[in-house]
Amino acid sequence: MNCCSNKPVIGLIAGEKLCKAHFIEYFESKVFKTIRQFDLIGKEEHLGVALSGGKDSLTLLHLLSKLSKQNPKIKLTAIAINEGIHGYRDKTLAAAEKFCKKNSVPLHIYSYEEEFGMPLDNMLKALDVKPCTICGIFRRYLLNKKSRELGFTKLATGHNLDDEAQSIVMNEFKNNVQASARLGPKAGINSNKKFVQRIKPLYLCTEKEVTVYAFVNGLLDNFNECPNVAKSYRAQVRDMLNNFENENPGTKYAIINSFLQILPDLKKRFKGEQADYCKSCGEPAAKDKCNACIFAERLEKAKLRAV
Ligand code: SF4
Ligand SMILES: [Zn+2]
Ligand SMILES: [Zn+2]
Repeated sequence: MNCCSNKPVIGLIAGEKLCKAHFIEYFESKVFKTIRQFDLIGKEEHLGVALSGGKDSLTLLHLLSKLSKQNPKIKLTAIAINEGIHGYRDKTLAAAEKFCKKNSVPLHIYSYEEEFGMPLDNMLKALDVKPCTICGIFRRYLLNKKSRELGFTKLATGHNLDDEAQSIVMNEFKNNVQASARLGPKAGINSNKKFVQRIKPLYLCTEKEVTVYAFVNGLLDNFNECPNVAKSYRAQVRDMLNNFENENPGTKYAIINSFLQILPDLKKRFKGEQADYCKSCGEPAAKDKCNACIFAERLEKAKLRAV
């Protein structure tokens, strides 16, 4: 069924086909409803927006900019991480810089090279480790530390429904229930003065919806994918879920909806079981030493061996 006589730009799972104007209305009201439903943004905030320059984070910043224009008590600052991935991150960071300039959003960029001594490409030559494992650890570490130093009240990330469904399934397959307890539209389990609350306003939007929204709003003119993504466990789960969704539409929504029913109990169960501080750097850590410090030390040793 079509929404009106205009040409449709997307078909929804329920069967409805929406034109550009009706889709934008549908998408934006879904995001703003998510923000209200999960109480993601208060009346007065200094929101950090984790910006990679890809479709998800540009869509997020575009929507939060609208919110901030309507409500001057919501201040926005973008934060980006340059991992040092040749031929990929330079392009998405250029898109991020262009967007921030056009929309007058301040942008802070931090790089692995400056913070950890070398770009990701070199780290992967120095250590025998899966790219996304080390990359994810350093990114989460820097985003939290810098968000706190920049005085953000919360950090908004562009995670969409597909990302979350993948994370839930990955944690199930690895029997990592505690990691699932940290998921949800408001990430984390314990409040910790050194931990900046992460929020996911695109939580209920599918990857397809975000892609179409970014495209029809001219936020993205090309698709860049990290060259390391194909080697990741996440990519295997992503492909499996996409195949399953094609055969059984609604599967990803079902994963999220059932997860949301058990999430409050999961958070309750694991409350208080982590939230200590790293003895080396003082950042929040589950053990004596945080994973970022463990990898930074391994890199240091690898560097010494190479001399
Ligand atoms: S796909 Fe993996 S290596 Fe590439 S940016 Fe993401 S986490 Fe880093
Ligand atoms: Zn229409
Ligand atoms: Zn540490």
